[in-house]
Amino acid sequence: MFDCDLFVIGGGSGGVRAARMAAAAGAKVALAEEFRLGGTCVIRGCVPKKLMVYASGFSEKFQSAAGFGWSCGTPRFDWKHFKAAKDKEIARLEGVYRQLLETSGVEVFDRRAVLESAHCVELTDGNRIRARHILVATGGSPQVPDFPGSEHAITSNEVFELEELPQRILIVGGGYIACEFSCILNGMGSDVLQFYRGPQILRGFDDDVRNHLGEAMIGRGIDLELQTDVAEIRARNGGFEVVALDDRRFEVDRVMYATGRRPSTKGLRLEEAGARLGDKGEIEVDNYSQTAAPSIFAVGDVTNRVNLTPVAIREGAAFVETVFKGNPTPVDHEFIATAVFTQPEIGTVGMTEDEAGKRGGVEIYMAKFRPLASSISGKEEQALMKLVVDSASRRVLGVHIVGESAAEMIQLAAVAVKMGATKEDFDRTVAVHPTAAEELVTFRDPVRAT
Ligand code: FAD
Ligand code: NDP
Repeated sequence: MFDCDLFVIGGGSGGVRAARMAAAAGAKVALAEEFRLGGTCVIRGCVPKKLMVYASGFSEKFQSAAGFGWSCGTPRFDWKHFKAAKDKEIARLEGVYRQLLETSGVEVFDRRAVLESAHCVELTDGNRIRARHILVATGGSPQVPDFPGSEHAITSNEVFELEELPQRILIVGGGYIACEFSCILNGMGSDVLQFYRGPQILRGFDDDVRNHLGEAMIGRGIDLELQTDVAEIRARNGGFEVVALDDRRFEVDRVMYATGRRPSTKGLRLEEAGARLGDKGEIEVDNYSQTAAPSIFAVGDVTNRVNLTPVAIREGAAFVETVFKGNPTPVDHEFIATAVFTQPEIGTVGMTEDEAGKRGGVEIYMAKFRPLASSISGKEEQALMKLVVDSASRRVLGVHIVGESAAEMIQLAAVAVKMGATKEDFDRTVAVHPTAAEELVTFRDPVRAT
């Protein structure tokens, strides 16, 4: 009575992982993707973004190299060259995703799918496919608020496709994407103006980290305007005039909005099929990613739990364990490490000082220091390392790093934090020298205790 055991809507991080694993477990699987296989992460998120981070980071390296005796001439960045190389790599990865699905035996439909009922999806060509289980993994999309001239704003979807590197750009927002792209474009040579409506960027991150990064970004030449928002954008002379709420005016070539993402559930007919949606349009699921309609499950950004690629992948894998392998597996969302690929980079896991302080007594261990490499390069910027420790249990509740390779360091620190390591476990770990990471295991006295 069913055409397949599993129909997956969305060929991004969560959907592809679930489809491949279910097929490997012997299920008959089909998947629909309306744009490009690989989803946000591969096509217009993590991967092209990280390639831009690498490209952008060279400007700083050229500067530092001079202090070490290198003369490199006048470096010049060629956006068109970079974009062509990036597009080629993304197309290659997209092909790898298709091949992985096909060799797993997953039938791929390159079109949009919506729910027809709790056991049936409808494709844009009118085809209907009945499935024992349906997995919705449709991700999210950028949101731009409505204001005069908002139609002139681009988002992260378009920034990867620009034909020219903007000479002057305004980036609006203070979250992951706004901060990452301010740093990327600044490193590539654009004049970057960033507006954030609140008192400091990266709300929700540890305050020392936020302040440290904010200062470092300004130190690197980004015009970071806090407690500032856009009143209007007007097209002018091939560029734009931006009027701020306090009536100041700025001339830029592009305006990019990075003001959050919304789960892609519009028009999917989820509620008609029995699933429930939350306030932001996210699909409500239980710990096993099951919706209110027992045959429909949802994973990844569309559920708006923790919107990161490895989380979508974990949720997809846990869904397959639960439904196709008879091994009910909830997803553990505690102590997920994350990185913000700014310049300098942030790596963080666990509680901020504020969060931990609300639970009880904490000790804070913190160091700010000029890394060894900067001593010769002449760079003044400092790195930041911080541990948040529970005074009673001695458990390390949070690790926060700002500086070179913070993302790489935090992945390993997260293992210790997840295992419940105490400050004394960190202390009895012998340092690796000379590194920046050794600071994490050599803290002596707390800088404060509450
Ligand atoms: P997606 O990857 O968004 O996949 C959903 C897919 O469903 C899309 O391909 C879409 O076209 C398709 N789709 C939607 N509706 C339909 C439909 N009706 N029919 C058929 N197909 C449909 N995370 C990190 O961990 N690290 C990072 O460095 C990072 N950087 C990021 C940078 C940017 C600029 C952005 C935007 C995001 C970044 N993220 C990062 C977040 C990460 O990309 C997402 O968390 C992840 O892609 C979510 O995976 P998903 O499977 O839930 O959805
Ligand atoms: P975020 O939620 O991180 O940040 C949104 C920002 O926009 C916040 O500063 C928010 O301010 C501001 N904002 C929201 N609405 C408005 C508005 N109407 N006017 C002005 N400002 C507004 O979203 P992003 O779009 O940056 O990224 C989406 C998600 O993608 C991230 O949360 C993360 O999960 C994922 N991601 C992960 C990355 C990584 O792992 N390195 C990189 C990029 C994205 P306020 O704080 O005041 O609400």
